[in-house]
Amino acid sequence: MIRHITVLGSTGSIGQSTLDVVRRHPDRYRVFALSAARSVDTMLSDIAEFAPRYVVMADAAAAAGLTAQLAAGCQTEVLTGADALAMIASHKDVDQVMAAIVGAAGLLPTLAAAQAGKRVLLANKESLVMAGPLFMQAVRQGGAELLPIDSEHNAIFQSLPEAYDGDFAAHGIDKILLTASGGPFRGWSAEQLADVTPAQAVAHPNWSMGQKISVDSASLMNKGLELIEACFLFNCQPEQVQVVVHPQSVIHSMVQYCDGSVIAQLGQPDMRTPIAYGMAWPGRIEAGVESLDLFSLATLNFEAPDEQTFPCLGLAKQAFSAGGTMPSVLNAANEVAVDAFLKEQIPFTCIPRLIARVMEKHTPQTVTSLDAVLAADQWARDTAAELLTTSDMTEMPG
Ligand code: NAD
Ligand code: MG
Repeated sequence: MIRHITVLGSTGSIGQSTLDVVRRHPDRYRVFALSAARSVDTMLSDIAEFAPRYVVMADAAAAAGLTAQLAAGCQTEVLTGADALAMIASHKDVDQVMAAIVGAAGLLPTLAAAQAGKRVLLANKESLVMAGPLFMQAVRQGGAELLPIDSEHNAIFQSLPEAYDGDFAAHGIDKILLTASGGPFRGWSAEQLADVTPAQAVAHPNWSMGQKISVDSASLMNKGLELIEACFLFNCQPEQVQVVVHPQSVIHSMVQYCDGSVIAQLGQPDMRTPIAYGMAWPGRIEAGVESLDLFSLATLNFEAPDEQTFPCLGLAKQAFSAGGTMPSVLNAANEVAVDAFLKEQIPFTCIPRLIARVMEKHTPQTVTSLDAVLAADQWARDTAAELLTTSDMTEMPG
């Protein structure tokens, strides 16, 4: 049976990898809709290849520009706006939704897909960090299938018992071992980090990814967001998740059981593996990924994370423990900080400082509604922006 898929964030790194898997299986998958912020050229060539029924551009000018350039007779309808985004994520003719918009902008359409009971292929970890309890509730109530695409969480999903229902003890699970590459600055001192450039930060040693997640990987915030993601997805506490730095990124994460067994998933650092797994689950399909050559790998290394030099991981643990709106505040402050770093307005080491200052000013509220999450997100963005203009970031306590 043909599965119809909507790809949110289709022009990005995950979006393009998803389309590559679709391209390999024309007999199994058809693109229902594509969406992006403003990349008109990539969208034009993807429309020509995949002939989606709808395309949603977040940027209205990009939507107009795209419409003007569509080939004569093209059947694709170009839309813009939040309602259109939610519509393509929840349309009755859609089976699967790849949630690969970067950042908080992904929350509403991803939630719409969950509420509509779709198979949600979740790459957009920020939406789960922001609204974890609401999101998991929407999945249950909507009868959605939530398939983690983040490579670590996909590996954990593959390493958990098939019947796992959120109860560690009942399934003899001790711990999740969440692997981290350590990023481009693994082993560096705080002094060395003081004057790194955006170009250095986005040059990830193993993975080719969008800019924001690359900076998050360099600061270890990516691992912090992933720790929160794991706690919500698998119903556990931060103490039950051990971060393990593994520079080769061959083991994508593990589950440790009470009998001494550790189950791992290994593979190339290529996101098409978890994407294809999510799309075909419980089956498996070819993903265009080379098989692993263990003889050429020879060695695998493991070390503990340096939480002193990379405080973002600890901030994320704090945010999850504080609960309520605090993870949303952590995420929003991080988005502002990363953007300022990429624009060379603040040094790399000020990313955790700015986030810590915003978190200190926040009293977490219980997350009872989406409005509470969105209000906390906006408050954190405003507070971070104000701190950026009013304080000397280099003076902030580290
Ligand atoms: P990217 O920057 O390459 O792509 C982002 C996509 O989102 C683009 O298509 C862009 O047009 C779209 N977009 C950006 N802002 C938008 C907005 N306001 N409204 C609508 N669309 C918007 O990012 P990426 O690396 O593909 O990452 C996407 C998501 O997947 C992130 O949440 C990231 O954390 C997660 N993820 C990525 C990887 C990876 O290997 N790249 C791995 C795990 C998880
Ligand atoms: Mg990951």
